[in-house]
Amino acid sequence: MKKMLLLSILLLMTGISVGCTVSRDNIRGFNLVSLEEEKQLGDKFAAEVEKQRQLVTDPAVQSYVTQLGNRLLTGARSREFSYTFKVVKDNSVNAFAVPGGHIYLHTGLIKAAQSESELASVMAHEISHVVARHGTQQLTQQYGASLVLQLLLGQDPNMLAQLTASLFSQGAFMAYSRGMESQADYLGVETMYRAGYDPRGMLSFLKKLDSLHQSNPGSIGQFFSSHPLTASRIQQVQLDIAKLPPKTYREDSGEFKRIQSKI
Ligand SMILES: [Zn+2]
Repeated sequence: MKKMLLLSILLLMTGISVGCTVSRDNIRGFNLVSLEEEKQLGDKFAAEVEKQRQLVTDPAVQSYVTQLGNRLLTGARSREFSYTFKVVKDNSVNAFAVPGGHIYLHTGLIKAAQSESELASVMAHEISHVVARHGTQQLTQQYGASLVLQLLLGQDPNMLAQLTASLFSQGAFMAYSRGMESQADYLGVETMYRAGYDPRGMLSFLKKLDSLHQSNPGSIGQFFSSHPLTASRIQQVQLDIAKLPPKTYREDSGEFKRIQSKI
């Protein structure tokens, strides 16, 4: 009897861990960090990012990305954080999210996008990393939960500064796993669809990044090392889009081109 119990516990545990890593549909992966801790940690990271990087302060640009982000959030599976969307002055094609819903887009990304839905696709992908809480999962997997506590207590401000700086260099502390990237693509497509943005924007942007990467690898920032682009990834997005029922999507607002010309 005891053996049976042990066996079923083991099976249950295996089931849970497999569920966490494999199912793209499950956004409740194991996480040692509470929502409240993630919010606090996220605010600390955001303050540090904004100390280290130069942001675009033009109110028209700021309000455009906030509006686009908020529209996309209507299609997200959950909204447990108060999201912020900001633009970093940097010509590389990149975007990143820190825990707790703070999302940053490089000016290079906005310039490289050919349509609003292409830009929206990267934002939806980043929103999905936040929704599934990949940042804190990755942080605790790599450094242990004690690091989060240390950061929250603010005992070592240098550590926060270094971790934040590593977001912009090769050894990104939140180098997501392949499974996390694939989940962010999957949820990103779903988020776009539900919010009324054409998910084919994700496909065309991934293809564009792929060709940019081949012609000018230096133009693509961290997006590539943290978001490895493989043919299978593009193919998967294509398959996911093909399964969606037909829908009339939002037209690109003229605002996108206007904002693009301002940065
Ligand atoms: Zn990603």
